[in-house]
Amino acid sequence: MYICADIIQLRNIKVVGYIDMDIRENLKKILNTLPEGVQLVAVSKTKPVESIREAYAAGQRIFGENRPQEMAAKHQELPSDILWHMIGQLQEKNVKYIAGFVDLIHSVDSLKVLSRIDREAAKHDRVIDCLLEFHIAREETKAGLRLQEAEEILKSEVCRNMRNVRIVGVMGVATNTDDEDIIREEFHHLKEIFDDLKRKYFSKEASFKELSMGMSGDYQIAVGEGSTLVRVGSSIFGEREYRTK
Ligand SMILES: *Cc1c(COP(=O)(O)O)cnc(C)c1O
Repeated sequence: MYICADIIQLRNIKVVGYIDMDIRENLKKILNTLPEGVQLVAVSKTKPVESIREAYAAGQRIFGENRPQEMAAKHQELPSDILWHMIGQLQEKNVKYIAGFVDLIHSVDSLKVLSRIDREAAKHDRVIDCLLEFHIAREETKAGLRLQEAEEILKSEVCRNMRNVRIVGVMGVATNTDDEDIIREEFHHLKEIFDDLKRKYFSKEASFKELSMGMSGDYQIAVGEGSTLVRVGSSIFGEREYRTK
């Protein structure tokens, strides 16, 4: 009896570990919960190219990274039809590493960065799609613009004269909390910001349609509040070895 129980317990432990690392299964599970029109950004930051290859083989094409140099190195090694999304805070001096290939930059939080993206994109004769990142969380540390700052950017002559960037929506990170009401309220707020900007500045632009919100712990709430792009890392690839912002 006892021996038997031990074996069963061991098996269970193994099975749990297996499910955790099965990238294909994890992807399938998440995709099954996403309604049509919501795209999955597989956040592969800190993960090796082998993990990305596995997700790619399962059909995943959009990958999110938060460090320009890391993204550029992975881009070189991996298939060219991957769509690379920058989700981390971007310093002006690092825009050059990704300007030639990046598909969408989620994390624009100043006119200075936007101007640099415009200039670097021009060198490659491209137009780079960007999202404005908003501060919606309670934590002071979370990056992002306030509504007034964003409107100052959008109204500025500099912004209106940019030819090599296209603003296609907004992004935000909710407070890291177990309180779902707080998270829901913050995502709801971001949707209101999106609607407000759409009405005031992008009413004629069908391309302004992206609402990037939701991570492993809260993407289902985000989808309920209108997210079109969820950024999911650890639920696909497992926990990261070290924390990055
Ligand atoms: C790391 C990161 C994610 C993914 O986080 P998980 O909790 O692992 O899903 C999403 N968005 C941003 C901005 C991130 O930095």
